[in-house]
Amino acid sequence: TSYVFTFGGGASSADPRSRDKTVVGGKGANLAEMAGIGLPVPPGFTITTEECVRYLADGGEFADDLKADVAAALGHIERAVGKKFGDATDPLLVSVRSGARVSMPGMMDTVLNLGLNDATVQGLATSSGDARFAWDSYRRFIQMYSDVVLGIDHHLFEDALEIAKEDNGFYADVEMQAEHWQVLVTEYMQIVKGELGREFPQDPTEQLWGAIRAVFDSWDSDRAKVYRRLNDIPGDWGTAVNVQAMVFGNMGDTSATGVAFTRDPATGEKAYYGEWLVNAQGEDVVAGIRTPQYLTKASRERAGAKPLSMEEAMPEAFGELAAVFELLEKHYRDMQDIEFTVERGHLWMLQTRSGKRTAKAALKMAVEMVEEGLIDEPTAIRRVDPMALDQLLHPTLDPNATRDVLTKGLPASPGAASGAIVLDADTAQTLAERGEAVILVRVETSPEDIHGMHAARGILTARGGMTSHAAVVARGMGRPCVSGASALSIDMASRTLRIGNRELKEGDVLTLDGATGEVMAGHVKTIEPELVGDFGILMDWADRHRRMKVRTNAETPADCRTARLFGAEGIGLCRTEHMFFDDKRIAAVRQMILAEDEGGRRAALAKLLPEQRADFRAIFEVMAGLPVTIRLLDPPLHEFLPHGDEEFAELSDVIGIGVDTLKRRAAELHEFNPMLGHRGCRLGITFPEIYAMQVRAIFEAACDVAAQDGLAPLPEVMIPLVATRKELSILKALVDKEAEAVFAEKGRRVDYMVGTMIELPRAALMAGEIAEVGEFFSFGTNDLTQTTLGVSRDDAARFLQPYVEQGIFPRDPFVSLDIEGVGQLVELAAERGRATRPAIKLGICGEHGGDPASIAFCEKVGLDYVSASPFRVPIARLAAAQAAL
Ligand code: ADP
Ligand code: MG
Ligand code: MG
Repeated sequence: TSYVFTFGGGASSADPRSRDKTVVGGKGANLAEMAGIGLPVPPGFTITTEECVRYLADGGEFADDLKADVAAALGHIERAVGKKFGDATDPLLVSVRSGARVSMPGMMDTVLNLGLNDATVQGLATSSGDARFAWDSYRRFIQMYSDVVLGIDHHLFEDALEIAKEDNGFYADVEMQAEHWQVLVTEYMQIVKGELGREFPQDPTEQLWGAIRAVFDSWDSDRAKVYRRLNDIPGDWGTAVNVQAMVFGNMGDTSATGVAFTRDPATGEKAYYGEWLVNAQGEDVVAGIRTPQYLTKASRERAGAKPLSMEEAMPEAFGELAAVFELLEKHYRDMQDIEFTVERGHLWMLQTRSGKRTAKAALKMAVEMVEEGLIDEPTAIRRVDPMALDQLLHPTLDPNATRDVLTKGLPASPGAASGAIVLDADTAQTLAERGEAVILVRVETSPEDIHGMHAARGILTARGGMTSHAAVVARGMGRPCVSGASALSIDMASRTLRIGNRELKEGDVLTLDGATGEVMAGHVKTIEPELVGDFGILMDWADRHRRMKVRTNAETPADCRTARLFGAEGIGLCRTEHMFFDDKRIAAVRQMILAEDEGGRRAALAKLLPEQRADFRAIFEVMAGLPVTIRLLDPPLHEFLPHGDEEFAELSDVIGIGVDTLKRRAAELHEFNPMLGHRGCRLGITFPEIYAMQVRAIFEAACDVAAQDGLAPLPEVMIPLVATRKELSILKALVDKEAEAVFAEKGRRVDYMVGTMIELPRAALMAGEIAEVGEFFSFGTNDLTQTTLGVSRDDAARFLQPYVEQGIFPRDPFVSLDIEGVGQLVELAAERGRATRPAIKLGICGEHGGDPASIAFCEKVGLDYVSASPFRVPIARLAAAQAAL
C-alpha cells in the first residue's frame, strides 16, 4: 500500500483510497475530489493518516520508504508547476497543511511559503517581478515556521513588526515596502538565532521534513487531546499531511484570498456568504489583523459597509467562484465551506468541506434542499443533529426588554446568554464548575481557549470576523458568540475592560445576543422560541419516519402543555411525590408519615385525597385521549420530614402532637441507605392505605374528566421498585379493587393498565414471571444504572470525570445508557416480558429517553416508546426517526 497520494496537475491518483477521508484526511480527500471534477486546485500530495499512526507508534521515526515516496511526489508537483523546489532562480514554494478525518482545531497550523531561504527569496523577487511580494512572503514564512515548527513564541515576531511599522510611521502592514520587509527579515533571523542558538534552517528539504514532523507530532499535542476528548474523537485516527504548491494572494491588487460558504451558515439562507481580502495571504482573513471585506454586493450593502465586495472589485474571478459554488453544491449535495485564493486574477481552490452551521441554518437548509430536489427526506432527517435542536428550543432576548447596549459586534453564533465577565479560559472553567454562568471575553480566541469556551455561556471577542476561530468554534458548540467588537479593549493587568467610554471589571454581568451582535450591560429578559416553519416541517417528516412513540416526563399541567406543544404523545412518567411538597400539603403529608397508627394515617390521607384528585384532574384535562403513566409514591418517607426545631414546632401546632413524639418518630425513620431502603413498592406493601388513596384519586379524576370531556385519558398505574412477581400481584390487586370501587360509585368505567418499572436487576431477570401480572414495563434506567453499576448517581460526581477521561466509561452512564452492561438487562427483560405477554407495552422513562445514542438502542430493542423531559421531546422525535431509518 502507498503512503503518499498525489492530486491535481492533471495527475491525480486513481486509487480510491486517495479520496477516502479515513486514509488521506478530510482536507486531502476533498482536494483530490475537487481536482477530479476539474476544478483549479494547485497540485500537491498527501501523506496518509496511516503513516502518522506508524510514525507515532515508532516513537517519532520516519519509515525509510516514506523518504523516497515524498521525493517522487514532490517531483510530481515540480513537473506540474514547471518549477524546482530549492531552485535559486525560480523556486517552487509549498504549503504544509494538516488534515485529520474530521476538521480539528488544535492540530498544527499551516506553514505557507515553505522553500524560501536567503537565496530563493532573490529568485522569487526576480521571477515574479515583485520584490515586495517576495520579501513579504519570506517574513511570513520565517514567522510561521518558527512558531509552529520551531516552537518560538510568535509574539516576538509580532512585536518586532509593530516596532518596524512605528519606526517607519506606518499604520498598516500594506504600507511596508520591499526594503522594510527585508530589514525585518534580518531582525527575524536574529530572533530565531537568539531563541534557538542556531540559524534558521536554510535547506528547503530540511524545512519540509521539519514541517511534516511537526504535523505528525501535533496529533498528540495537549490541545488536540482536549479537543478529541470533548468531541469523542478516537486517539488512533492520526492526521494526514498535505503538501501543496503555493499560489499567491499577496501579489498586489489583482490578487486576494478568502473564505466562503455556499449558503449563509448562520441563517441557512440560500445566498453566498463570505469574506475576502485584497493582497493578502492565508490566514489573514481569519486572524483578525485586517477587517475582511464582504464577498457579495448585497451583503456589503445590507451591512452598510464601504470597501468594495469581491463581486464589485473582481467581477470575473467572482463569476468563476460562483460557478464553482454551484458545482460543488450539486456534487456534494450539501452546503460547502470553501477557501480560495486569487493570484493575479486567476482563481484557485484550496479547500472545501461540508460547512458547520447553526441549528437554525441546518434546519432551513435541510428543508430547502429537499424542496430543491437536492436531497430526499431521510437525508434531510439525518442532516440535523438532534442535540443541536436544543439551540432552537432555548430562549432568545425579549424584544421588549430594556437593553443597555454597550456596543455591537458581529453576530457570530446565535442565542442569547447572560453571565459574569471572565477574562481567561482557566477561570471560566473554574467558575463554571462551581455552577456560575460566565461570559468569556477575549481579544481573540485560539485553540488554547477551547475548554473555557466550552465552560462559558457565551463568548465575546474584540477582534476577528464571522469566520474567526471564536465564531467557528462557538457555532460548533452551540454557544452564543459576538466577535469583532472593536470598541472593546481589555486590560489584563487590572482585569478590567473598556467598551467605548464604559469601564467594566471581571465579575460584572453582561448579556450577549449572538443573533444581532449586541453586547449589553446586566441581565436582559428572554422569551421562549417559536416552533413553526422549518422546524415544524422537519418534525413532521421525522414523525412520518419514526416507529417509536415519544412521551414526556411531566407532573405539572404547565409542563404537560409545553410537552404537548413539543409533540409529546402521552406521559411516560408522572412522579407523584413532587405533588406532596406543596406548601399547603406538606403538613398533611408529615402528619401521615409521623402518625402512630393506621387511623392517624387515614385521617391525614383524607386531607390529601382531594388535593391529589385535583392534581390528576388538571393533568388528565391536558392529556385527554392520551396515555398517562402515573408512578405511585416512590421515595423514602423521611425525605418529607421537617428540618430543624422551627419546622417541628410548626407541625406540632398544626397536628396537635407533641414535638418530642414527632422527633422520636422521625428518628425511627432514619435509614443508612435510603436508596436501597424503605421506598418504592415497599411503601405500598407496608402502608397500603397510601397507595389506595393515590389510586382512588387517579380514578375519581379520570371518571370526572371522562364525564366532562367525553374523552378519557388512559391511566397506566405504575408500581415502582418491584423485584418480585408477588409484590406486583399484591399491589395490582389493590389497584383493581380500588378502581372497581370508584367505578361503582361513579357509575362509569375508564380503561386502564397496571404495570411496573423495571429498575432492579432482579426485576429484569425475572421479567418473564413479572409479565404474568404486569401489563406494561417502563425501564427506569436511572435506578437500573445505579443498581446495576452499584454507583450512586448523587455521589458519582467525584469520580465520574476521571472515569470518563481514562476511558473506563466511554460516556457518563447516567447521561448515555451503558448499552454494553445495563443495556443487556433491558434487552433481556424485553425478551422475557414479550415471551410471556406478546403484546406487553415497553417504554423507557430514565433520563436516557432524551439521549440520541440511547434512543437508537431503544429502537434496536424494539421498545414501543421513549419518554423524555419536555424540552427534550423534539430531540427524541428526531433521534427516534434517525434510529428508524
Ligand atoms: P486550516 O485547516 O487551519 O484552515 P489550511 O491548511 O486550510 O488550514 O490553511 C489555511 C490557509 O492557508 C488556507 O485557507 C489558505 O488561504 C492558505 N493556504 C494553504 N495552502 C495554500 C497554498 N498552497 N497556496 C496558497 N494559500 C494556501
Ligand atoms: Mg489554522
Ligand atoms: Mg482551511
